[in-house]
Amino acid sequence: MTRPNEMTIEEAAHALRARELTVRALWDACATAAAEKNPGLNAYIELFPADDAAIDAAQKRVDAEGEKAPPLCGIPLAIKDNILIEGKIASSASKMLENYCATYDATVIKKLKEAGALFIGRTNMDEFAMGSSTEHSAFGKTLNPIDTIRVPGGSSGGSAAVVAAHIAIAALGSDTGGSIRQPAALTGLVGLKPTYGAVSRSGLIAMGSSLDQIGPLTKSVSDAKILYEAIRGQDALDSTTIPDGLYEKREVSAKFHIGVPRHLFREGVEADVLETFEATLKKLTDAGHTLVDIELPTSSHALAAYYVIMPAEVSTNLARLDGIRYGHHANGKTLLDDYVNSRTEGFGEETRRRILLGTFVLSSGYIDAYYRKADAARAVLRREYMEAFKKADIIAFPTTLSPAFKFGEKGDPLSMYLEDIFTVTANLTGMPAISVPMGTVVRDGKHLPIGIHFTAPHQAEEVLFAAGSAVEKVR
Ligand code: GLN
Repeated sequence: MTRPNEMTIEEAAHALRARELTVRALWDACATAAAEKNPGLNAYIELFPADDAAIDAAQKRVDAEGEKAPPLCGIPLAIKDNILIEGKIASSASKMLENYCATYDATVIKKLKEAGALFIGRTNMDEFAMGSSTEHSAFGKTLNPIDTIRVPGGSSGGSAAVVAAHIAIAALGSDTGGSIRQPAALTGLVGLKPTYGAVSRSGLIAMGSSLDQIGPLTKSVSDAKILYEAIRGQDALDSTTIPDGLYEKREVSAKFHIGVPRHLFREGVEADVLETFEATLKKLTDAGHTLVDIELPTSSHALAAYYVIMPAEVSTNLARLDGIRYGHHANGKTLLDDYVNSRTEGFGEETRRRILLGTFVLSSGYIDAYYRKADAARAVLRREYMEAFKKADIIAFPTTLSPAFKFGEKGDPLSMYLEDIFTVTANLTGMPAISVPMGTVVRDGKHLPIGIHFTAPHQAEEVLFAAGSAVEKVR
């Protein structure tokens, strides 16, 4: 039998029901492995003690309800440090919120508790979810378990690392411009960014409110579906959540039309990543799916639009963290000094950079030139994608340009921002997207995972799961 901590959600749920495993044994396997491996990875900021009452309740429920018990019942999950769990610290990996203790559960946590899931710890991330490497955490960087001289991606790098290292069965991350999908790709996992509004943001520490979504990082596509089903749904606490069937229903066909915007990866993508991508497409066509050429001309402006809209929203969202009402406080001579000192000490460099950028693009005189232009580009992008979806069921590209990079390699912020080139569009258009492992490429003698990325029309997550499973079958 696979070691319990190495199981998928599906395998563990099955083993629990077959009485080959107990909830306690599953918890202990994950907790012991986590205590052993975490010091070498720095993937958890905090490991939670066993909640005996929750473990016992989950066991009773599995015993009593069997197959009817939710698949997540008794499964240890890791939670990104920007999602509130009542009574636990949620710091967004920032000194600003180092001691902030959540007073309520995020809606996703409430739903997971109802499903009987267990929480094993809170995971490291780039401060306030800004970054692509988990190097911008106030609590030190997270190492990629596949090759510890490399980054695990970001900003949900901790969530990716704990699942890849088998010290959690699955994890939740958040994705504003790629922060679930890119770390999933760089650690060999599946990562899903749901349709904007599919999952409640209540209890998620906001980064860019029109872009943020919570989603799963898992070892398989079916696990991603299980977690997604458990956390989705309209929520009175988040008025941007959408009812079922808001968008036109897409049939999940057995054979897909896969749209490939080849003009987008003429440059930038490393040669062997592109080869693996083409080989994956070839296997998919051999399995009966078809490729269609599509053009997404405005995509080349997506990154620029994102890096205007996102900081604008960051600057407004983080304005509340002034060190007076809550958060890190530093005394000064005047009230203004208090604000300046608290925010200068509390925020890291990347956070401060984005607050400044956001304040600038929203300032009178520049808002038309920057923010409104970016917003207009966003509308065009969405139209172009909708047009492409008349010909294609899904749109495919590589998730990233390269496999995991080394620490410090992208010290220049612009080169770091380029990491998001393929992922940001799904956040700008609000469409769901998934990254699924497509193979490995070799760097310095190590096999490093890379991912294939699919985007689907709004509320067509089912199509993504079907496409993801198709890749798992041919890989
Ligand atoms: N890497 C992107 C950024 O730094 C995406 C972040 C995210 O999705 N939270 O903005």
